[in-house]
Amino acid sequence: MPGLGALAGAQAAQPAVRRSLRTRLLLLALLPLGVVLPLLLAVLAWWGGDYFERLLVTKVHSDLAVAHGYFDRVSDSVGRSLAALAESERLARVLRLAPAQRDRAIAALLASTRGEQRLDFLHFVTVDRKFRQKPRPAIASALAGGPLTSTEIFTPEELASLAPDLARRAETPLIATANARPDRRASENRGLVIHAAAPVRDASGNIAGVLEGGVLLNKNLDFIDRLNAIVYPEGALPFGSAGTATLFLGDVRVATNVRLFAGERAIGTRVSQSVHDSVLGHGKVWLDRAFVVSDWYVSAYEPLKNGAGERIGMLYVGFLEAPFSDAGRRVFAGIVFLFVLVMLVAAVLAVVWARRVFRPVERMHAAMHAIERGDAHARVGVLGELGSEDELGIVAAHFDRLLDQLQAQTDALKRWGDSLDGKVTERTTELEQAVTNLKAAQSQLVKNEKLAAIGQLTAGVAHEINNPIAVIQGNLEVLRALLGPQAEPVEPEIKLIHEQVHRIRLIVTKLLQFARPHDYAGYLEPVNAPQLVQDSLLLVRHLLKKGHIAIEQQLDSSRQILCNRSEVQQVIINLLVNAIEAMPQGGLLKLAAEDWDEADMPVGLRLSVSDSGPGIPAKDLERLFQPFFTAKKPGGNGLGLWVSKTLIERYGGRLTAASPPGQGACFTVWLRCEPIE
Ligand code: ADP
Repeated sequence: MPGLGALAGAQAAQPAVRRSLRTRLLLLALLPLGVVLPLLLAVLAWWGGDYFERLLVTKVHSDLAVAHGYFDRVSDSVGRSLAALAESERLARVLRLAPAQRDRAIAALLASTRGEQRLDFLHFVTVDRKFRQKPRPAIASALAGGPLTSTEIFTPEELASLAPDLARRAETPLIATANARPDRRASENRGLVIHAAAPVRDASGNIAGVLEGGVLLNKNLDFIDRLNAIVYPEGALPFGSAGTATLFLGDVRVATNVRLFAGERAIGTRVSQSVHDSVLGHGKVWLDRAFVVSDWYVSAYEPLKNGAGERIGMLYVGFLEAPFSDAGRRVFAGIVFLFVLVMLVAAVLAVVWARRVFRPVERMHAAMHAIERGDAHARVGVLGELGSEDELGIVAAHFDRLLDQLQAQTDALKRWGDSLDGKVTERTTELEQAVTNLKAAQSQLVKNEKLAAIGQLTAGVAHEINNPIAVIQGNLEVLRALLGPQAEPVEPEIKLIHEQVHRIRLIVTKLLQFARPHDYAGYLEPVNAPQLVQDSLLLVRHLLKKGHIAIEQQLDSSRQILCNRSEVQQVIINLLVNAIEAMPQGGLLKLAAEDWDEADMPVGLRLSVSDSGPGIPAKDLERLFQPFFTAKKPGGNGLGLWVSKTLIERYGGRLTAASPPGQGACFTVWLRCEPIE
């Protein structure tokens, strides 16, 4: 199967191609996922991260606005409580008191009000008071008739003048932190103060004095904790993030809930250089992540300004960034996990599908291998079994049909080859037989030629002998006549000579008949069995004597048959010669003749020639009368029996052979009285 062989050979190089095909199919299926999903993920991470950050910044911005609002509210409330006291009837009454009582009464009133309003200091400043330096904006405004509240920085001396322990409370030791601007000072002893002043008028409406009061913000934990609670109430921040708020004096945290490492408040620590530059330096609002004390915070800083509009500190709110970034990372990790899961599921599905798609190809491959190994009946299998009815499945089924056709053609070729072999063998045998036959015919031809030559010679010799014999016979008669009675004493000798001469003539005639049968063919004459036997024996007598063969004759038929004597005689001689040759060591030759009757009607006679030779094997009996069958090697030509049978059958007779085991061979000539054509 050269075609199939080539096909299988091509298939041997297939696995790599098949694998790459499957890989390509997998890539085809996974590429969109593998490329699109990571891209999507990157975009999501970038956009989501940015959006998330903006969201956080927006939140902290609004937190700052809330903090700012609260700070303003506290400032206002300080101013309002001062203004209310300044305009109150209680103060007016006290002011109307006699100077001796007045100062004590004012002090008592202010002390009680300071306690009620939770102010750190509250003074009544008379109009005529001499200021060593330029009065604070609030005082100046109040003296001018308008109440004012502003945030101011007070020196320790000023603080001391306002209240005895203010300077001590304000003092804040500086704590060094990373990123902070260098500062040689060991502590911040100034005070950040909400400073308010309101004019106090007398009955006639003139300004009689000024009420000055305020709140020290340094270490004002109440204030900062309340601010933090308002900006970041319980549960306002998700993910467990913590909100923080701080008031800065310059860049120093003077009130904060930001914790230090040991859990203490980070009062005395300072803001980073970058925030300092941006907010205090340039007056900008800082909205970004910032490193606060020890952690990263989403932060908002805004400058605090004093009454003169100078930047004196900062208000800060912010919340821990880590919980948000952790949550973001968790969300991202979740998305990545989902993505990987989707990829895996897609990959598994793609692998399963690829296997399903490639099953017909693999089965075809296996079938080819099996065929290559010699299993001519290997097939891909039926469609249903493969579970694939797509184009590849159809190709596989088609492949099977092709294999079936190929197999059928191969079988037919094989059968044809076998029959061809048989025919060749048959023809070879026939040819060999024909060659043998040809050789036999050739040798028979040579023999015939020789026989013809001998016949001619014999005829010539016989003819030449006939004349002297005729002369001898004639002269013998003449001799007898001339001698007359004198011949009587030699009469027996003359008679013997006469008989022997006659015998010579007879022999010569028979020789002529044997040697030139055609000269005598067609001439039919009545012949009886003894005559035939005697004539034939005469011609083989020399063979009989030489072979020490005894003859037994039983000639029981007296019928005459009409035939060409020489032909029938030739048959008998042939049988006699065969019998003699079968007994080279001598033996018994039986000659028998009996009547041949059928249905009680005389048909002819049966003449049999039997010998005591080895007989004829059963297998040879069937082929005995075939031309060229001979068991004599060398010498036989296998034509004798065939010619004999042909001759006898020409007369309507038969020639049969029998060989009972251990009893030699017996040939019988069946001769009809009248020949039939
Ligand atoms: P040939 O004598 O040339 O072989 P025949 O036709 O006369 O040819 O005989 C054919 C064969 O038959 C012989 O070779 C011999 O084997 C066998 N045969 C014939 N007569 C006898 C016999 N009387 N006994 C045994 N075999 C015989």
